[in-house]
Amino acid sequence: MRIVFLGPPGSGKGTQAARLVEKMRVPHLSTGDMLREAVARGTPEGKLAKPYMDSGDLVPDDIILAMVARRIAEPDCAAGCLLDGFPRTVPQAEALDAILAEKQMPLDAVLELRVSEPAVVARLAGRGRADDQPEVIRERLSAYRRQTEPLVEYYGRRGLLRSVEGEGGFDEVAARITAALAGAGSTSL
Ligand code: AMP
Repeated sequence: MRIVFLGPPGSGKGTQAARLVEKMRVPHLSTGDMLREAVARGTPEGKLAKPYMDSGDLVPDDIILAMVARRIAEPDCAAGCLLDGFPRTVPQAEALDAILAEKQMPLDAVLELRVSEPAVVARLAGRGRADDQPEVIRERLSAYRRQTEPLVEYYGRRGLLRSVEGEGGFDEVAARITAALAGAGSTSL
């Protein structure tokens, strides 16, 4: 089962993704987590990525694609994975299609968490991460709208999109996600 998880920063995507990977028993591939780890370890990729992350901009596609291609090739991803925070641009989505086509591993579903802007801003303001400063939040939301939201149409056209209302309690949203993914892929959720 291969799933892409889409949603603006502060939509609760990371928390719901963590629950879903437990249930699906597949690796959780969060490009944000991978980048934060690379920054913390001071790797060359981390050093290149840090200024973009600090200002709320997207890290260039070549860095992200190299990182994801490497990770997807690892044996634990053979049976599936949950992609969280990737793809974030149409070129990334096209590159992912090419990577997966080569491995004959199609995507099963793309789950979009829909959350209103005021709700997202309120959640981010309470989270306390380094890139959760008001100006950086605004830039990250604008990057999402400009660069990532076009993926809703991209995957909609391919019949893969399942959109879920992301406002509400954790259990309530989790139940909506389970219902939206029912019948996707071969693994029952
Ligand atoms: P996240 O934890 O997914 O909100 O990501 C935190 C930051 O990492 C983002 O604001 C971007 O700067 C960077 N980032 C994470 N994933 C990607 C991606 N797929 N493409 C470009 N930049 C990314």
